[in-house]
Amino acid sequence: MKETSEQAKKRHDKEVKHVRKKHKSDIDEMTERHAKEIDDLRVTCKHKKVSDWMPSMWAPGHYGPQVKTCENCGLVIDTEKWDLGDIVIESGGK
Ligand SMILES: [Zn+2]
Repeated sequence: MKETSEQAKKRHDKEVKHVRKKHKSDIDEMTERHAKEIDDLRVTCKHKKVSDWMPSMWAPGHYGPQVKTCENCGLVIDTEKWDLGDIVIESGGK
């Protein structure tokens, strides 16, 4: 069966989309796009509203030390000393 120009166009669009997806996922692109904006926000933010201690996650489902973050820009203001028996991880907030 011969491909109509409409079908050819559709196939082409699909291929282009596929290549772009392979290159980068949407969430990666969004994260990248907003990373600079977030940086700018954090530079100008006065960090006036700081949250209570709450568990941080270094990966989904993996809790790290408790942190206090700015409720406006999300910057980690303070990090608790994390005692894992022999190993003490000391990570200071900025
Ligand atoms: Zn802030």
